[in-house]
Amino acid sequence: MENKYDIAVIGSGPGGYVAAIRAAQLGKRVALIEKHKTLGGTCTNVGCIPTKALLDSSEHYHLAQTDFAVHGIETDNLRLDFNQFIQRKDDVVTQNGAGLNFLMKKNKITVHSGTASFIDAHHLLIKGAENTDVIVEAAHIIIATGSKPATLPGVTIDKKRIITSTEALSLTEQPKSMLIIGGGVIGVEFATIFARLKTKVTIIEYADSLLPTMDRELGKALQKSFGKLDIKLELNKRVQSVQNSGNEVKVVFENEGSEQQELNADYCLVAIGRRAYTDQLNPGAAGVEVLQNGKIKVDGKLQTSVPNIYAIGDVINGPMLAHKAEEDGKYVAELICGEQSHLDYKLIPGVVYTWPEVASIGQTEEELKAKNTLYTIGKFPFSASGRARASRDLDGFAKVLIDPKYGEVLGVHVIGARAADIISQATIAIKNEITVKELNDMIYPHPTFSEVLKEAYLIGSGKPSINI
Ligand code: FAD
Ligand code: NAD
Repeated sequence: MENKYDIAVIGSGPGGYVAAIRAAQLGKRVALIEKHKTLGGTCTNVGCIPTKALLDSSEHYHLAQTDFAVHGIETDNLRLDFNQFIQRKDDVVTQNGAGLNFLMKKNKITVHSGTASFIDAHHLLIKGAENTDVIVEAAHIIIATGSKPATLPGVTIDKKRIITSTEALSLTEQPKSMLIIGGGVIGVEFATIFARLKTKVTIIEYADSLLPTMDRELGKALQKSFGKLDIKLELNKRVQSVQNSGNEVKVVFENEGSEQQELNADYCLVAIGRRAYTDQLNPGAAGVEVLQNGKIKVDGKLQTSVPNIYAIGDVINGPMLAHKAEEDGKYVAELICGEQSHLDYKLIPGVVYTWPEVASIGQTEEELKAKNTLYTIGKFPFSASGRARASRDLDGFAKVLIDPKYGEVLGVHVIGARAADIISQATIAIKNEITVKELNDMIYPHPTFSEVLKEAYLIGSGKPSINI
């Protein structure tokens, strides 16, 4: 039968396309089903890739205004072409999508365009555009349908002035002011993009610091750097209502003492988290159980309540990160194909692409305290690094948490230049249980930002640093 496959994957995000490619590499006949007009899911189309493209463009513009003159570079008549700013991001997204189309062909994966819904545990109806419905049969099905932005009770996302990250990526005018609800990862990345363009940005956050789920010192340090970008913070605030009055938005919020405040701006970006996306999927028809929070229920092997159906990525519980979805995809594909595969959720690095960058792996200080685990801290500032002084990237620190008995690395938390790249060394150290003594014995190239981490390990092991 033409539409009969070993594996059907629903959703072409980093979870789905990696699962499809890995299964095809292992010799399976694979179908990939995607409802969006292009492949790549949230990450490629409206997530990781376009945000990083806009972050890079906004960084160039910001540095041209604030830093170039110090280097002796004069920029007269500097101005921003906002349309080109958005267009370049679109071009980057298109290039990434084209790369995925190539990979599907290369791996002989059949792509079905349309929305999949379960008929039963082995059959999916794919509703395509204009009477192109097909039924696909598969021995195994992988649900990789991802997530969508969550909304606040009583707040309607009108996609005009009350927007999510998706609309914020494609505005047709540069906002003069923006209120961002949520000081989590999306909130701080978009605050960075727009503040660098001189949009007046205010973040309204429920918790008492930015990035409240990471080691608390990181968010507090980021707050200081955000002050230099003139980003205003309303912390410990709970949003009550958001209204679009035509040419501006009004946000009403209250503090811990229930006193009300309101702010107006051109746009309000709602960034309070994301929900599992299972609209139209009809998992119940196959007997697939859904948790109360809307996520698909899976066991330790990412198997749903139906043995031949698996779920991966943002649609299941766990960190909503592209590299976690990719790892899930590879794991499940190998498991179905009978390969030995291993999944370790302890070791998922988290990175926030502000400047300074923020990156973490392992346990936070708050988690260690809650478990009464003994630890020592090694902390070294970027301001004491020669490399950081050369590039004027003096904000931030590396903080390492060390087990005092065996010298094992329990957690590494970095805020500073190139933290996103530095963190992979820490991942290797934790994964391979390399002791802090062994880490101190390694020679780091000079001058590099990574030396900040070496100095933190040295201090964490109880030895004095030579550089501070
Ligand atoms: P998704 O990428 O959401 O893909 C799911 C796909 O399934 C979509 O294409 C959807 O159209 C399709 N689909 C859904 N239902 C159906 C159906 N019934 N039939 C057919 N197709 C269907 N993570 C990082 O690690 N690093 C970052 O820098 C980063 N930046 C981000 C920035 C933003 C603004 C956002 C919103 C997210 C960001 N993320 C980042 C998170 C990352 O995008 C997600 O964790 C990742 O995309 C999840 O992958 P996934 O494969 O589970 O789902
Ligand atoms: P988040 O969970 O990171 O942050 C949401 C924030 O909103 C929290 O700080 C929370 O305290 C706050 N909040 C919730 N309700 C509120 C209210 N009523 N008023 C004020 N504040 C409120 O979620 P997000 O920033 O929307 O990101 C969604 C997901 O996308 C995350 O899981 C993240 O992993 C992923 N993402 C990752 C990256 C990256 O890896 N660089 C970038 C963007 C998004």
